[in-house]
Amino acid sequence: MYFRYGTMNSSKSMNLIASVHNYESKGDKVVVIKPSLDTRSANGFIESRVGTKTECIDISLKDSILTCVKTEMDKKGSISCVFVDECQFLTQEQAFELISIADTMRIPVIAYGLRTDFRGILFVASNVLLSHADKIEEIKTVCHVKGCKRKAMYNQRVVNGKPVFKGDSILVGDTISNTNIRYEPKCRFHFMADMIDSQKGGNN
Ligand SMILES: [Zn+2]
Repeated sequence: MYFRYGTMNSSKSMNLIASVHNYESKGDKVVVIKPSLDTRSANGFIESRVGTKTECIDISLKDSILTCVKTEMDKKGSISCVFVDECQFLTQEQAFELISIADTMRIPVIAYGLRTDFRGILFVASNVLLSHADKIEEIKTVCHVKGCKRKAMYNQRVVNGKPVFKGDSILVGDTISNTNIRYEPKCRFHFMADMIDSQKGGNN
């Protein structure tokens, strides 16, 4: 069980697509899953920001990933790896299902996602994976602030040009679907500075 986490824009999807390609180029069968509430990509595909894409199975929060993988095994025969994109959107139960796939079905699972939400608080599924994954790997990118060379650790939510620190953890839709809301990868220094500013302002 691998958990590869990183902020937004850290090329997680690109990394996933490249890994899927590596398996498939050797003739190995894989299952690629994405929680369907991620609206950035078209249904049935995982797309990277540089334009590469791979087919995937969209699952809802009610779906069993175990059942999904078993169904795919019936269709394809043996499965060499299960990939999950945007795994922070899974439920706690679904995150535990990934561990069960690795342990009881003995299929490697590689899950990609965010560690924390825009407030810097762990996503429920990410918490499960950080606690139980065999390997935890960070996919790094730099802070969004011009000239800052620090590692980005947070996905700062920016509404109407202002950083916000309160609201729902999952607000689906990227810059494409709502021009007023965007996310910026920020280092701890800049994230904390904005948080203190917003507390002073009393707006958040
Ligand atoms: Zn910074």
